[in-house]
Amino acid sequence: MRKPMMAGNWKMNKTFSEAQELAKAINGAVEPYNNVDRVICPSFVALPGVAWALSGGELLLGAQNVHWAESGAYTGEVSISMLKGMVTHVIIGHSERRQYFGETDEGVNKKARALLAAGMTPIICCGETLEQNQAGETSSFVSGQVKAALASMSGDDVVKCVLAYEPIWAIGTGLAATAQQAQDICGGVVRAAVAADFGSAVAEQVVVLYGGSTNEKNITEIMQQPDIDGALIGGAALKVEAYASMVQQTSELYK
Ligand code: PEP
Repeated sequence: MRKPMMAGNWKMNKTFSEAQELAKAINGAVEPYNNVDRVICPSFVALPGVAWALSGGELLLGAQNVHWAESGAYTGEVSISMLKGMVTHVIIGHSERRQYFGETDEGVNKKARALLAAGMTPIICCGETLEQNQAGETSSFVSGQVKAALASMSGDDVVKCVLAYEPIWAIGTGLAATAQQAQDICGGVVRAAVAADFGSAVAEQVVVLYGGSTNEKNITEIMQQPDIDGALIGGAALKVEAYASMVQQTSELYK
């Protein structure tokens, strides 16, 4: 059975000390629910402090981006070896990075393969704009993103990835996809794209998240969908009670 995951993307929020306080509060609130992978992704700057504050605990740490090169003249970038030992997961290809920082499918693929080679877990984001959705292009666009992100990988590599379907029109808008819409794309497009390129056995093992305005009120219905294994959470991940409730509700469903 696929282990569910509640991954919190803190984006560009919280100072060094605020991040440690939030992480400690979240850790205390979600510690008992160990049938759910609980991942928090603070800013690069906050990561060492949060790692120190959480040492010995069960909460997993992730970064929000990484560069694929080992080292070199890439001003402002952070390499995998700089993160290794501190984080287990890295979000790549988030729509905000694609939109504002020119991240491409090719770059996402390079990052994913470099992370896997280092024994880390890429959380690979995909998702369509409102215009693409309204033009009926969701399936072809999202399927193309998934296939491009996983290009040149083996099936063994693919099962180590986490795929996050995040319709851009649902991110930070308060307008989540319905549970049925999310299921249709997570199963009928994201998992189906994996099955088409790597076979159904691989597709059945890969963890697929939904992201976009999830919260403590809609998470149970979303998590009841057969092809949704978790959530990539933005705003609600910054609220201790909301995030803890989402973890707890997920834990209940998987007992
Ligand atoms: C996100 O940024 O990945 C996200 C899903 O944000 P929110 O939950 O706030 O919509």
